[in-house]
Amino acid sequence: MVKSILTNKWVKLICGASNEDIASIEDLCAIYSAAGVDYIDVAADPSVVKAARNGMNWSKEVFGKDPGLMISISDGKDIHFRKAHFDPLKCPPNCPRPCENICPTFAINQNGISKNKCYGCGRCIASCPLNLISEYEYQLSKNSLKDILHKIKPDAVEIHTEINRADAFQKVANIIKNSGVKLKKISVSCGLAQSQGKPEDLARAFWERYEILADHEVQLIWQLDGRPMSGDIAATTAKAAVKLWENIRSLLPPGLIQLAGGTNGNTYKFLKRNQIPDGIAFGSVARKLVQPLIQETFDKNKKIYENPEKMALAIEKAKILLNPWKN
Ligand code: SF4
Ligand code: SF4
Repeated sequence: MVKSILTNKWVKLICGASNEDIASIEDLCAIYSAAGVDYIDVAADPSVVKAARNGMNWSKEVFGKDPGLMISISDGKDIHFRKAHFDPLKCPPNCPRPCENICPTFAINQNGISKNKCYGCGRCIASCPLNLISEYEYQLSKNSLKDILHKIKPDAVEIHTEINRADAFQKVANIIKNSGVKLKKISVSCGLAQSQGKPEDLARAFWERYEILADHEVQLIWQLDGRPMSGDIAATTAKAAVKLWENIRSLLPPGLIQLAGGTNGNTYKFLKRNQIPDGIAFGSVARKLVQPLIQETFDKNKKIYENPEKMALAIEKAKILLNPWKN
């Protein structure tokens, strides 16, 4: 059973729309399911979903905790749906390798970037003094969406959009509706970072999406994407996400409101006690917290849940992040 969002604040784990690190995803989903997240949001890829469900099933068997499964898609170009690339043969042998040092998922080594581990955060791109690293778009084509929905049968879909992309959003919404796949929730993720609009423009964009989704008969979630993929950087990113929420909260259409993009352990303390959103999504910060433990067990060819001591430690770490929202 999915935990009621009426008794607790809603918490979602974002595994990453371009994250295909199957081994880590299984462990990550096991850890955060056991720690009590309500939903887990993964790439729209059957093998990623299979790994996520393995981890969630473990949590269901051991802890009776079974979050919902959400897949992320986009109605156009979006930084959540990209990866980075460079040709290692072009790197000078004496480079101090800032790209490798800055990558939060250890995706870079002498052979270049591991496609599966890269989730497109973009930090390595800016770090290369020779500008050797480029990004490329990495997402599902709209033509495959119907098939993927049927294959995966997720509980929910998140559609990433930008303020001025209502037409593209409409097309994606139509595909979802015509697929016949019954969803419990549709989340709409949009922020100001890419479109350089004002809070009122963002509110207008959410109202347009509300009209488009009116006949879908699912619960709607408005995800405010403050500073995309930056939650593990600093407290300031949490502040930016909270500020966006404060500027826009009274302007949004009916539905759950969820903070994302820059959210981390500092978010809760920046919120006024009488102004807490319905929910929060944690991405890079959640992954970074437990990644070293996952990696340690992975190096011994094990899943983290095959090592009860490490698993207990990982769940405790995850709970520290979730606790303010689950009490
Ligand atoms: S730093 Fe970010 S974009 Fe670069 S390889 Fe690592 S995950 Fe990918
Ligand atoms: S920083 Fe640039 S030059 Fe140096 S290893 Fe990375 S990609 Fe190559």
